[in-house]
Amino acid sequence: MKRIYMDHAATTPLAPEVLEAMIPYFSQRYGNPSSLHSFGREAREAVEEARAEVAALLNAEPSEIYFTSGGTESDNLAIKGIARRNRKKGRHIITSSIEHPAVLEVCRSLTREGFEVTYLPVTREGLVEVGAVEEAVCEDTILISIMHANNEIGTIQPLEEIGKLAREKEIYFHTDGVQTAGKIPVDVRSLGIDAFSISAHKLYGPKGAGALFIRKGVRIESIQQGGGHERGMRSGTENVPGIAGLGAAARIAKENMAEESERMRSLRDRMSGWVLKNIEGSWLNGHPDKRLPSNLNFSFRYIEGESLLLHLDALGIAASTGSACSSKKLAASHVLSAIGLSPVDSHGSLRITLGMSNTEEDVDYACRAIFDSVKRLREMSAMRPE
Ligand SMILES: *Cc1c(COP(=O)(O)O)cnc(C)c1O
Repeated sequence: MKRIYMDHAATTPLAPEVLEAMIPYFSQRYGNPSSLHSFGREAREAVEEARAEVAALLNAEPSEIYFTSGGTESDNLAIKGIARRNRKKGRHIITSSIEHPAVLEVCRSLTREGFEVTYLPVTREGLVEVGAVEEAVCEDTILISIMHANNEIGTIQPLEEIGKLAREKEIYFHTDGVQTAGKIPVDVRSLGIDAFSISAHKLYGPKGAGALFIRKGVRIESIQQGGGHERGMRSGTENVPGIAGLGAAARIAKENMAEESERMRSLRDRMSGWVLKNIEGSWLNGHPDKRLPSNLNFSFRYIEGESLLLHLDALGIAASTGSACSSKKLAASHVLSAIGLSPVDSHGSLRITLGMSNTEEDVDYACRAIFDSVKRLREMSAMRPE
């Protein structure tokens, strides 16, 4: 049976060129980048080349890029590192209620160190309101952390306005950009961002590699001590193959972005157009246009998302309900709750995230499969009124 992967917000396959770029650093070029001999220098060159490629993707300087083990670590480093280093200035952090757990749980853990956190609500479309950020700011606020685009509903936040506010109030501004890096243009300068997290495996790179942009001059301390790698910010021998892969992924994403994002947008709109027209009691969660080109998040009335997911899986389609991290729990998605969905409606959600390998044919097949599955499930559903 043909298998169609439509869960690219959970992870992406390696681009073939990325794999090729990584292989030498598993085999002949195994040097430690800290070594002074030719083996070491080769590895160091790969790391520095990747740093330049990641910097170019974000319009940053290479010296502002620090490699980490992924999005989660980048979020930890940014938030804990900035909060702890600036605690004499203040103890208040502002974030949103729809952040990834890598931000929410870090903020929660900081409350045990005496920090106070405001979790801002969002609109029905999943937008953080700039006015609400401004209202939440107090004398004690040292950090605002608002994600660029949401991993479940795809809503893109008004970062430029939030960045402007942060600068005026002299508050540091971190963004979890794991879902946008490589998919839509990111310019950390024009967005007024002080720290930006990315993860390789969300942009056709390897798992276990990521980076944090830290603007030059930001006061931040390391959260991992050791041999002083990454200019003291992240000790531990560099994951050279992973970093080389991230660099290649960043370069390819930048080259293909304009074309690929247009293609995604057209596939996305083809799918939502068909589904919303042909399946009764369906709607799209998230913002109609301030939205990732690859994201669809549907709700189907009288449907249990997990059952729909399994039906689709049996038809060869890989999608998700809520986020991958919470899909094993039965609790309603915190994001869908935050946009005002009832627990019943949020359990009837289906996230489709498109990617490089998907074609119009795949989309049309998936539309039919969703239609048939929803129909069958509704026929069996106990939730459906007679
Ligand atoms: C996937 C994801 C992360 C975590 O990245 P890892 O590299 O898997 O640790 C963080 N934030 C968002 C928005 C994500 O989608």
